[in-house]
Amino acid sequence: PLVLGIETSCDETGIGIVRGRTLLSNTIASSMDEHARYGGVVPEVAARAHLEALQPAIEAALAEAQVTLADIDAVAVTSGPGLAGALMVGVGAAKALAVSLGRPLYAVNHLVGHIAADILTGDEVEYPTVALLVSGGHTSLLLVRDLVSDVELLGETMDDAAGEAFDKIARILGLPYPGGPEIDRAASTGDPNAIRFPRGMSRASDMAEHRYDFSFSGLKTAVARWVEQHEATGQPVSVPDVAASFREAVVDVLVTKALDACARHGVPRLLLGGGVIANKRLRDVALERAEAAGVAVRIPPLSLCTDNGAMIAALASELIMSGRPASTLAFGADSTLPVTTIQVATSS
Ligand code: ATP
Ligand code: MG
Ligand code: FE
Repeated sequence: PLVLGIETSCDETGIGIVRGRTLLSNTIASSMDEHARYGGVVPEVAARAHLEALQPAIEAALAEAQVTLADIDAVAVTSGPGLAGALMVGVGAAKALAVSLGRPLYAVNHLVGHIAADILTGDEVEYPTVALLVSGGHTSLLLVRDLVSDVELLGETMDDAAGEAFDKIARILGLPYPGGPEIDRAASTGDPNAIRFPRGMSRASDMAEHRYDFSFSGLKTAVARWVEQHEATGQPVSVPDVAASFREAVVDVLVTKALDACARHGVPRLLLGGGVIANKRLRDVALERAEAAGVAVRIPPLSLCTDNGAMIAALASELIMSGRPASTLAFGADSTLPVTTIQVATSS
């Protein structure tokens, strides 16, 4: 099927077009720059930006895919989780488009969409797999037994998302938003072992007790305190050393938990997704430790790892190919949609 996917859960207006498992276009307009002076995504600003970006993004995606609206077999949209106001813009547009074209609508889960992105790489994708999704809005560890029917939440962040932690530490160090790339750059000349920052909830006993939940607020406080104390007593603060040590702590926690989950569930596959995957240290440590553990790691290209419409279209395409009925129009944006709900408003 030829599917057009709409993604507006955060600050990216993503329109993607796929045919079956083939990626035809993936247009992304980001309002990231507009949020920079606030140091984080401002929901109202994001929603307004989606409203303005949708129409040109749809036109660009159709042109790039060399298809017209009349060719589209189905419309797909992210119904949640995400920012309510931002989601609402995409949901409204998708409903209008599906009704006016007389085509079925598939309303799907954003997190499961991140997993579906992997299918568009053209490689044979095998399940079950553990998936680690890390971005500005989420830090989730999932067990995917079947993309269209069986996704289990193993753990998620109890406070800040991984990318959010990068953004907050960057602010403490006086670096601009988004902080991830800035910390990464500063860390490249720093010593990752200079300061031993805490690895929250990653002892074996924690993983047994708390499933695989994450917490980065303790780490954030530890970094803030370390910087404050050094400044107060006139000791030098090496931004590269703090950045590298902080990055090492985050990477260590993420990779340790993901591989522990692989071992516990007997799953020798790990899929990485989300914007924090841009972090090369994270990719390197994951690849290195996974190889030692006999786990195969899959990392889609960054354009498919960050929020995009193609992954939403890909998930709908899988649902269609496995014979799932379309969503009814009886749904709205659901900012806290659980990952176990892969598609919403299903009639059966
Ligand atoms: P969502 O959470 O809905 O997926 P988002 O817009 O918050 O969306 P992304 O766009 O996927 O998230 O990723 C942005 C986040 O990734 C920001 O928090 C940013 O700081 C972080 N990030 C980007 N590059 C890097 C990097 N090299 N290292 C660490 N973090 C990074
Ligand atoms: Mg974003
Ligand atoms: Fe996302």
